[in-house]
Amino acid sequence: MIPVNTPSLSGNEARYLQECIETGWISSDGPFVNRFELEFGDYIGRKHALAVSNGSAALDIALKAIGLEPGDEVIMPTFTIISPAFSILRQNAVPVLVDSDPDTWNMDVSAIQKRITCRTKAILVVHIYGLPCDMDPILDIAREFKLKVIEDAAEMHGQTYKGKKCGTFGDVSIFSFYPNKHITTGEGGMVLTDNTEIADKCAKYRNLSFEPGKRRFVHYEMGWNYRMTNMQAAIGVAQLERIEKTILRKRQIGKLYNQLLKPLISVIKPPLESTDFADNIYWVYGLLAENAEMCEKICSSLAEYNTGTRPFFWCMHEQPLFINMGLFKGESYPIAEKLARNGFYIPSGLGITDDEIRTVANQLKTIVAHEL
Ligand SMILES: *Cc1c(COP(=O)(O)O)cnc(C)c1O
Repeated sequence: MIPVNTPSLSGNEARYLQECIETGWISSDGPFVNRFELEFGDYIGRKHALAVSNGSAALDIALKAIGLEPGDEVIMPTFTIISPAFSILRQNAVPVLVDSDPDTWNMDVSAIQKRITCRTKAILVVHIYGLPCDMDPILDIAREFKLKVIEDAAEMHGQTYKGKKCGTFGDVSIFSFYPNKHITTGEGGMVLTDNTEIADKCAKYRNLSFEPGKRRFVHYEMGWNYRMTNMQAAIGVAQLERIEKTILRKRQIGKLYNQLLKPLISVIKPPLESTDFADNIYWVYGLLAENAEMCEKICSSLAEYNTGTRPFFWCMHEQPLFINMGLFKGESYPIAEKLARNGFYIPSGLGITDDEIRTVANQLKTIVAHEL
């Protein structure tokens, strides 16, 4: 059995967790939380870092903190995980979609400006799978039209755009620490910003909107309990100690697959190795089949070998939930639709060995030679 992801917890994770138990600090009040925030904020290069319970929570908080009004429009890619759309809708704002770039799978930057109206308030950037979005033109548009930028860097720990770390762009950025990310805390997330006012709001919203300095249990705004526990942060601190090694290993995994799967390139399209502004960090190793039928066939054949796969994201404008809500009526985004139907990713977590990578590559070769 080769699962699609196995995390690596081989450093100080157990030792730091033990410390939580021995000291009794298991809630969000413990010292690892502050340490993880400081160290992760330092690593990314942002003034403020706020640890939260998961990446989706980070998006909720970030979108509330930038002050969206009901009916405000937020431009985002249709090809992404659903969390950004949920967070926009929870603020009674409106997600406005753009198609994808066929090569990087990121949002098509050239489509953004056409979607701007007098209600547009923000652009929510999502870096997909391993390559960052082209940030310069996005930031130019945001400046010209006075739009906020939220950067979903949940798949980009340590990735850079033109040498500058992902998670440093725009007004506020978020990360996730789900077990398949480059750093995991089991569940967890982080909100980062250089803006003190936004940071203060985020700190408040993650903690039931308790008002610092005012009488306890008197509230003026809605909020959530999105706090990260000391136990999660303890794992995060240990994970961050190994981040450079992790990134090297993820890139090795990607490159080994690239090399082994080269003979299949005419049938299964591998991820881009690099763009003008970044080398792929291979959050997951995604592949594109020629069509949906072939994609399903490959995934079910790999399942027979006990090799795990996941399909690509499903587009926002094709989500039954949103269609039932009357959103995105008559909209189509052909490139993203194709990615969603033809794409899948193969085992590429940190726990995978080179032998397992070779096994998966051989299985793919057999499937392509004999079963398609
Ligand atoms: C993983 C992920 C999230 C959500 O993070 P959770 O911690 O699972 O809530 C958000 N955005 C993107 C792009 C992700 O990959």
